[in-house]
Amino acid sequence: MSKIILTGDRPTGKLHVGHYVGSLRRRVELQNSGEYDKVFIMIADAQALTDNAEHPEKVRQNVVEVALDYMACGLDPEKSTLFIQSQIPQLCELSFYYMNLVTVSRLQRNPTVKAEIQMRNFEASIPVGFFTYPISQAADITAFQATTVPVGEDQLPMIEQTREIVHKFNTVYGETLVEPKVLLPENQACMRLPGTDGKAKMSKSLGNCIYLSEEPDEIRKKVMSMFTDPNHLRVEDPGSLEGNTIFTYLDAFCQNEHFERYLPDYGNLEELKAHYQRGGLGDVKVKKFLNNVLQEVLEPVRNRRKELQKDIPYIYEVLKKGSEEAEKAAAETLDKVRSAMKINYFADPELIREQAEKFR
Ligand code: ATP
Ligand code: MG
Repeated sequence: MSKIILTGDRPTGKLHVGHYVGSLRRRVELQNSGEYDKVFIMIADAQALTDNAEHPEKVRQNVVEVALDYMACGLDPEKSTLFIQSQIPQLCELSFYYMNLVTVSRLQRNPTVKAEIQMRNFEASIPVGFFTYPISQAADITAFQATTVPVGEDQLPMIEQTREIVHKFNTVYGETLVEPKVLLPENQACMRLPGTDGKAKMSKSLGNCIYLSEEPDEIRKKVMSMFTDPNHLRVEDPGSLEGNTIFTYLDAFCQNEHFERYLPDYGNLEELKAHYQRGGLGDVKVKKFLNNVLQEVLEPVRNRRKELQKDIPYIYEVLKKGSEEAEKAAAETLDKVRSAMKINYFADPELIREQAEKFR
């Protein structure tokens, strides 16, 4: 069986460092590993519209921002198919059929959707499209016969939902769809990077982000005002790592070589943590270190992005070509789905013969 990746992001804003550690960094490695037959990377504009129906311009503007972030991080259109969800009409049709295989109560139990409904104050009136987006996500994944979906932890319930739909579909209509596996970040801190405000998740919609394209000054300001241990008031006080956002970020970004360059008194992160917990290490020193680490990681991304920004028509060309390629792949799956579901009337001479026989 081919090894195929599908993953993507909603064009609701520029991408942030949560995306980077949760998914992007890994995608680029997988793309370059040569182990996958196909890598599909989707800009999920139709999904973004499920909770931004009244802001089409926002979604439209952010498509190119996300594409720039992708390519700045190293996603390469020669190796990966970068495409726009709404340009693949087969995805709507698949979603429509999958809706028959999922119950309302099952959707209501999805913990990510539950949390997102709360976050968006949708409790009183949830748009149907938003409520059913896990189904459309199943269409996205299965349309490309994806075997592997590299995502952050918040997406686990979606992949689980997809696997259930695949299982149900194959049981009812015969073996047709591929059951995907989720690929989570290895490092706990990267699963769900908290926002700079210490809130559970850095998210475009919460405005607690450090963006990949951020200028050095902004990065420094955001790091210096980051949430730490509220009880660590004086340098000599022992500090706690629990819920301490600077240390979570260091877990996600810092490597031993960063100590050699920026904080040679310590050999590794464990030593720094131990000192913090003992007392005698101030937040400012740790924040300055984190700032150095982030600056080093983000500088090449920002510079590549600035280069790419000089030729925006080329970015659209990449997305157009990718969308055409993606549509072909989705159309092949849809053909299989239609015939499995027995709605391929005109492509089935057997059916016509049978019916003719019946009425003879
Ligand atoms: P929105 O607020 O519009 O939902 P978002 O910031 O949650 O935006 P998505 O486009 O929904 O971003 O997520 C894209 C991918 O990035 C998913 O795989 C998701 O798991 C991952 N991701 C998003 N935020 C984080 C985070 N803070 N830490 C780790 N992974 C993340
Ligand atoms: Mg999200």
